[in-house]
Amino acid sequence: MTTHRRAAILSIGDELTLGQNLDTNSRWLADRLLSFGIVTIEHATVPDDLGAITHAFERLSSTADLVLSTGGLGPTDDDLTRQSLARLLSEELVQDAEALAALRAWYTFRYREMPATNLVQALRPTSATCLPNPHGTAPGLALTAPTGALVCALPGPPREMQPMFEDHVRPRLRPPPGLVRTRFLRTVGLGESAIAERFAHHPSGNLMSRERNPLVGTTASGGIVTCRIRFESATPCNEDAVAHTLDDLERDIRSMLEPAVFATGDATLEQTIVELLTERRETCATAESCTGGMIAQRITSVPGASRAFLGGLVTYANEMKIAHLGVAEGVLAEHGAVSAPVALAMARGALSATGATHALAVTGIAGPDGGTPEKPVGTVWIALASRAAHGANAHARRFLFRGSRDAIREWSALAALAMLRLALVERDMALLGEVERQPPSPLPR
Ligand code: AMP
Ligand code: MG
Repeated sequence: MTTHRRAAILSIGDELTLGQNLDTNSRWLADRLLSFGIVTIEHATVPDDLGAITHAFERLSSTADLVLSTGGLGPTDDDLTRQSLARLLSEELVQDAEALAALRAWYTFRYREMPATNLVQALRPTSATCLPNPHGTAPGLALTAPTGALVCALPGPPREMQPMFEDHVRPRLRPPPGLVRTRFLRTVGLGESAIAERFAHHPSGNLMSRERNPLVGTTASGGIVTCRIRFESATPCNEDAVAHTLDDLERDIRSMLEPAVFATGDATLEQTIVELLTERRETCATAESCTGGMIAQRITSVPGASRAFLGGLVTYANEMKIAHLGVAEGVLAEHGAVSAPVALAMARGALSATGATHALAVTGIAGPDGGTPEKPVGTVWIALASRAAHGANAHARRFLFRGSRDAIREWSALAALAMLRLALVERDMALLGEVERQPPSPLPR
């Protein structure tokens, strides 16, 4: 029996090659495979074309020990995965009795007649096995290619594909005897190059050098830099010893990046904030101008946010800032809407309007128009006012972000969340894009 060391993933569908839909299945499958120590060596995408699909299966099954495909198992004429696999094997398609019974049961349960077109979904190449699909009509297929590679064809819809992988592909996997362990540390506030710089100066040499094991890598996305620590061994090894090595390295990395590391695993910044607030039995509120509710949107995307988030005001016009946050007309006139005094007044106003423990306020110039030499596009003031057990104060930071209107708004929301998180963990650092700071001043009682 072959070991599955190297996998290839084939995504099938015109909607993918033509750019209508994003292929999320490959990412999901490769990630799952890696957790068993199986490395994916190629992602391929082909249209709904018999020749292209067959050729891809032939090619991938000759370079990988395991080929997983998704899509093309539906009942219509553009679903050609079954036929391609029959060609790969030089076999006929035959009716699978169990798959047919399951298909009939699917329709009976819904009091519907089975359309004749769906009959093809019970077909399989002679030597293939049908994989049951309790979440849809298309059964999957498992077979051994002429090269000896295991080929599993799964349906396209993720909510059908994922359970089928867990229930019917996973038990067929024969991962290599070695060990692969991965850890993730999520950071906010430092740039990817700043992190790489620190890693380069580790006492034991560059942590990111590609010959290392554990190997350290970084990925930046949406302002969050994720550090990946991966240990890989082709031979069996002591799991506790590996865990120990990873613990040590993780501790090292944390102390190098402190206090930027906000989570391990895949927790988001907003999840971390909701957790921290809930733990401390504190709440937050927002007053947003240029971000138009994005901060509130991010916090409320977290299940359980109601325990930590009271609400937010989107105060875009000056009149709204005056009427709903109590920002003084004179302050607006003297300093302009994008200024430290206005950001601070907005945060204080949101604090008293909502009774929250913490209030974030954002005011900035997202562009593309409206910039001046003193306040160019990308200038954003963010203030945080807190009335917590350890004190009542407010501080503000000025940021200068580059990029499109969307990018500036995204960065602003992220920086605001990062400021709140720093306050909650009672730590401080200069955040990426920060150019000026108005230090904490006490709030009036
Ligand atoms: P199919 O099995 O080809 O009929 O696929 C049906 C549907 O599954 C498609 O219309 C997509 O919505 C979804 N789908 C197919 N392939 C993928 C993929 N690689 N990633 C995410 N969704 C997919
Ligand atoms: Mg399709």
